[in-house]
Amino acid sequence: MYVTTYPCHNCAKHIISSGIKKVFYIEPYEKSLATALHDDSICGNIDCKGVQFLPFEGVAPSQYQNRFRCVTTKKAAGKFVKINLAEETAAYAQLLDCFVDYEVKIVDTLVENGL
Ligand SMILES: [Zn+2]
Repeated sequence: MYVTTYPCHNCAKHIISSGIKKVFYIEPYEKSLATALHDDSICGNIDCKGVQFLPFEGVAPSQYQNRFRCVTTKKAAGKFVKINLAEETAAYAQLLDCFVDYEVKIVDTLVENGL
């Protein structure tokens, strides 16, 4: 099974009972209680006997177009123009901090602004 986000504990329960053996998730879900509540049935490596919850390795479908958007050519005056990649900016900013750090920064900003 391929899912967009690491399953929550309720979805994990249904996945386990359905007999699915491998789940590939694209995005982590740090707040999921699936691992804590179903640790007897779920594991995160390919050597275990339980249902394997493994991170998807590759470019997520939703990010594929964003990632490679600049590599294509632009259309100008009815003709395609080759893009100079050295002059292009990234299609989107890559977030390098974990989401918890971003949540703290957002809350700090809200508090500073009295919101
Ligand atoms: Zn769920």
